[in-house]
Amino acid sequence: MLDINNIRKDFPILTAEVNGKPLVYLDNAATTQKPQCVLDTIIKGYSNQNANIHRGVHFLSQIATEAHEAARITVQKFINAEKNHEIIFTRGTTEAINLVASSFVRSDMINNGDEIIVSAMEHHSNIVPWQLQQSIKDIKLKVIPFDDKGVLDIESFKSMITEKTKLVSVTHCSNTLGTVNPIKEIIEIAHSHNVPVLIDGAQGVPHHKVDVQYLDADFYVFSGHKIYGPTGIGVLYGKEKWLEKLPPYQGGGEMIKNVSFELTTFNELPFKFEAGTPDYIGSTALASALDYVSNLGLDNIIAHENDLLAYATEKMKTIEDMRFIGESTNKSGLISFLVGTIHPYDMGTILDKLGIAVRTGHHCAEPVMHRFGIEGTVRASFALYNTRDEIDVLVAGIERAARMFRKKK
Ligand code: PLP
Repeated sequence: MLDINNIRKDFPILTAEVNGKPLVYLDNAATTQKPQCVLDTIIKGYSNQNANIHRGVHFLSQIATEAHEAARITVQKFINAEKNHEIIFTRGTTEAINLVASSFVRSDMINNGDEIIVSAMEHHSNIVPWQLQQSIKDIKLKVIPFDDKGVLDIESFKSMITEKTKLVSVTHCSNTLGTVNPIKEIIEIAHSHNVPVLIDGAQGVPHHKVDVQYLDADFYVFSGHKIYGPTGIGVLYGKEKWLEKLPPYQGGGEMIKNVSFELTTFNELPFKFEAGTPDYIGSTALASALDYVSNLGLDNIIAHENDLLAYATEKMKTIEDMRFIGESTNKSGLISFLVGTIHPYDMGTILDKLGIAVRTGHHCAEPVMHRFGIEGTVRASFALYNTRDEIDVLVAGIERAARMFRKKK
């Protein structure tokens, strides 16, 4: 069991007041708060060991390089990648998917008329990068549907794979529905047709034990800021065999071996995909965040968050006119909801007045909203530092907002 009250002391922002009320931060799917150790790593990085990495022979450059490469190994261990050069640092999930989309489509692994499969519950970051590539090659996007509860239709997925399918790209967990997808099964099905799979782990890594070798994922991507790390740093894991085949994404910096106007050659992995000055402070701060999570124990965090989810679901069920958007039996991290005809924005604004931070709107997943014929939802999303007391505050806040709107009618 985690001592949450003690753990909360690690997060300076959690003592803040908003509108004269103690902050209840339930917008963790958008970004998580940062523990002091992550903040300290950033300060220490810039205060004591700041120098551009890789190219310097001087002392500071060497220790900064060592810290960046040590961070790569921390990430490698965290997701159990086989090789450390299979870890590419990116700006986040979005950049990692854009990298794969751009490089994959420019490679000879996909041709005009071929197909890529995504799901109907993807974040825009796993839709638009593929659409952008449609101007490079004539590629068809096929979309796996989901049912009224927010569960992916795996039979439909099986039937849509053809010899033209060249990649499957699906989310581990939906940021809107909370659904946890059966990614191991999806990967097995795709692999039985020799099709590689990219998993968008933005909402997966913070709430699940991820073992990329066990999953046999070809690509797994995530963002540092959603797992208590800083913004601007994220991870692309790719199996060596795919990363070797993909052409570079951006040019410049450490990604070259030799440059001339006649012929430029590229560096080995992982540097081939890390053009420009890497975010070496961000990478070390991300490693601090992952160490923090590992020290608390991911199993303990998962148990605590599952308790919060179950508790919140039971409590919220009792609210009149409550409608959950996303009712899979396998959910993690969040609850999306509507109450009667109250607009999500209005609900969010009233909750904010009570110091409660939730997200409202389409959550960058407009196709999910279209599927339900709604404009948006209110989303409460959980992290390791949230408490049952905070859920009680949320429930009381929702009830108060609902009463105000009923009176107005
Ligand atoms: N994919 C999912 C499932 C997400 O929830 C998010 C962010 O909310 C993203 C991708 C994009 O992440 P980022 O903005 O950190 O690149």
